[in-house]
Amino acid sequence: MRILLTGSAGFVGSHLVERFLGEGHEVVGVDNYLSGQRRNTELFLRHPRFRFVEADVSAGLPVEGTFDAVLHFASPASPPHYQQHPVETLLVGAQGTQHALELARRDGATFMLASTSEVYGDPLVHPQPEDYWGHVNPAGLRSCYDEAKRYAEALTMAYHRHHGVDTRIIRIFNTYGPRMRADDGRVVTNFVNQALRGEPLTVYGEGLQTRSFQYVDDLVEGIIRLLGVSYHGPVNLGNPDEYTILDFAEIIRDLIDPRLGIVYEPMPADDPRQRRPDITLARELLGWEPRVPLREGLERTVASFREVGEGRPERVGV
Ligand code: NAD
Ligand code: UDP
Repeated sequence: MRILLTGSAGFVGSHLVERFLGEGHEVVGVDNYLSGQRRNTELFLRHPRFRFVEADVSAGLPVEGTFDAVLHFASPASPPHYQQHPVETLLVGAQGTQHALELARRDGATFMLASTSEVYGDPLVHPQPEDYWGHVNPAGLRSCYDEAKRYAEALTMAYHRHHGVDTRIIRIFNTYGPRMRADDGRVVTNFVNQALRGEPLTVYGEGLQTRSFQYVDDLVEGIIRLLGVSYHGPVNLGNPDEYTILDFAEIIRDLIDPRLGIVYEPMPADDPRQRRPDITLARELLGWEPRVPLREGLERTVASFREVGEGRPERVGV
């Protein structure tokens, strides 16, 4: 297949590039480095089946040739990043999604939208199944991200229903792993880096809010499986093991340094109190469920952060 991937220099995007190249596909990656990393592109630049185009997807997709699949993963994903770039985040969810959908429509390609558990907002139904419509503050600090993704889902369904595009929508729950940006401000990167520096872990609020953490390889496997079936509604991809942020801090301490302290900082506005995917649909449709337990995924992540910190080039198996 010839695959177009927006957001290829991001955390998830770089793992998708690696997997697709490993499976023999040709990949054209597009990214403007709003929240991505040049070193994620450099990993693959010498690969004969990888091409990179530096461009803002919201302005258009200046790419050549035709594609069998178009995957739209471009968008800042960490709360500090999208709150620093609220307009760009709305645009890449709106115009960016439309440019990618138009390309898929032109080529008769399969289209995939990377949506998010954030479409459920601060959920009143727990765990969250795909048919829960969510509880989102449309004017809050997180709305630039939540509403952009909700619009992107609506646009994707409109292109499917009205133009017959072969679409997929995944709702990704908190995902972590190697190649996250150390300064992205998400809880996994903050805690791992604080612990590696011997600093106290910054817990927001009382740390009683919950999240469910998925290792990136599990997500990539779910994406590959969903591309292989004809299903057009949204599909949750996440790990249903749920932890309070305090529990999570405890695990990081156990793993890196049990003597580390905890400092409590104010709870950010509109921070969801609980989040856990109902993955019944993905189990039944794809025969998929997460395989990597949290401790094992964190060990791999910590090892990679240590390596990058020491400036050693990463080896990729493509
Ligand atoms: P990331 O920030 O590491 O990667 C996103 C990439 O998109 C970056 O390389 C960024 O530079 C690029 N980008 C942003 N705006 C762009 C634009 N206008 N034009 C071109 N490139 C642009 O984030 P990630 O964690 O890899 O997330 C990837 C996708 O998955 C996003 O769409 C995100 O919303 C979704 N997602 C991720 C998670 C998660 O936990 N990682 C959870 C839910 C949804
Ligand atoms: N969080 C925290 N300390 C940090 C960073 C985040 O306690 O240093 C909390 C944050 O308030 C949220 C959870 O951890 O409740 C997950 O935050 P993250 O930014 O990783 O992702 P979110 O799920 O909120 O998009």
